[in-house]
Amino acid sequence: MSDSLAFRGLITFIRDQYRSKDFIPLHAPIFHGREKEYVSETIESTFVSSVGAFVNRFEDDIASYTGSPKAVATVNGTAALHAALILAGVLEGDLVVTQALTFVATCNAISYCGAQPVFVDVDRHTLGLSPKALGNWLDEHARLDSDGVCRTKHGQRVIRACVPMHTFGHPCDLDGLSSICAQWGLALVEDAAESLGSLYHERHTGTFGLLGTLSFNGNKIITTGGGGMILAGTGLGARAKHLTTTAKLPHPVAFFHDEVGFNYRLPNINAALGCAQLEQLEQFVDAKRALAGRYAAYLSSNSGLIFVTEPEGCRSNYWLNAVVCEDEKERNSLLDATAAAGVMTRPVWQPMHLLPMFKECPRDDLTMTQWLSARIVNLPSSAPLDRIP
Ligand SMILES: *Cc1c(COP(=O)(O)O)cnc(C)c1O
Repeated sequence: MSDSLAFRGLITFIRDQYRSKDFIPLHAPIFHGREKEYVSETIESTFVSSVGAFVNRFEDDIASYTGSPKAVATVNGTAALHAALILAGVLEGDLVVTQALTFVATCNAISYCGAQPVFVDVDRHTLGLSPKALGNWLDEHARLDSDGVCRTKHGQRVIRACVPMHTFGHPCDLDGLSSICAQWGLALVEDAAESLGSLYHERHTGTFGLLGTLSFNGNKIITTGGGGMILAGTGLGARAKHLTTTAKLPHPVAFFHDEVGFNYRLPNINAALGCAQLEQLEQFVDAKRALAGRYAAYLSSNSGLIFVTEPEGCRSNYWLNAVVCEDEKERNSLLDATAAAGVMTRPVWQPMHLLPMFKECPRDDLTMTQWLSARIVNLPSSAPLDRIP
């Protein structure tokens, strides 16, 4: 139904959520906690940069919140993903299987390793990498050699890793993906940039693979200004820290670095912001889940738009609310009507295989990716804190 009346109702509904007549952004950060206090502490102590107590505290707090054995803070989510892929053993010339329905950072990080993404389709109910499509692509194109390494069936290219992404906070089918990765010897690295606070069968996303990564960019559920985190499985935490802090061997005065490392460490001033934000995360998740519930109820009785809901057995953080329109024409009318009314919405990312730098990458049938990419619209999703149930 591309009836502008229906959109007028939706716009009024959205304005009611935020009790605002002003421009409504897609996602705004909220600083209602101890942000100023913690950031001031770093300034007063002069420890704003690479040394300071908030970085360790933020890492420990994220590890204990997610249940990850170890968490290592980085300057942004892309850097976390780049380092995680190196830790997973991704080398120049390798292939890494991922989804085309993602933010470009996922594929940029694969490229930084000199590896190439392979695009496989997503599932309608998760918007994430489809285990069935992954299994079919591997059956057709891969072989598992006696050295335990997965290679292309008729060549020598190594298929090293698999990077699913939890789109808008909705968890992928992690049981399905884990078992296929185990069967084929692929390292599972979760891009959990959007899904901090989301649970799959009561366990945090980002903790199922060998490694997982988070982002604390300004538009994510909690922010450090810019920042990211590596969630490292057992045994990889120390190496993750080493690689992201210039690979310096511990010594009180001497500078000795034992490999080419990265200056990816999160500054203390950003970690201070992160510690304060993390204290409010469960509150944000509650508020966003309640908002999603109201969107779902409103849309089910007032329009032809289909609201995207969390997959069964999951708790989604509902980072960004999304609807699936009937077709591209309705998608465009919804984008136009909301823009004209000062309510920010946006289409989903251009699928990766259509971008110039990734158009030659190997890919499977991407029917669902294409179908969704013409129809998804994200709706305003900031946590309306005054409306916590
Ligand atoms: C935000 C995001 C990242 C990381 O972004 P940074 O801006 O580098 O922190 C990675 N992947 C996805 C899917 C994202 O949404």
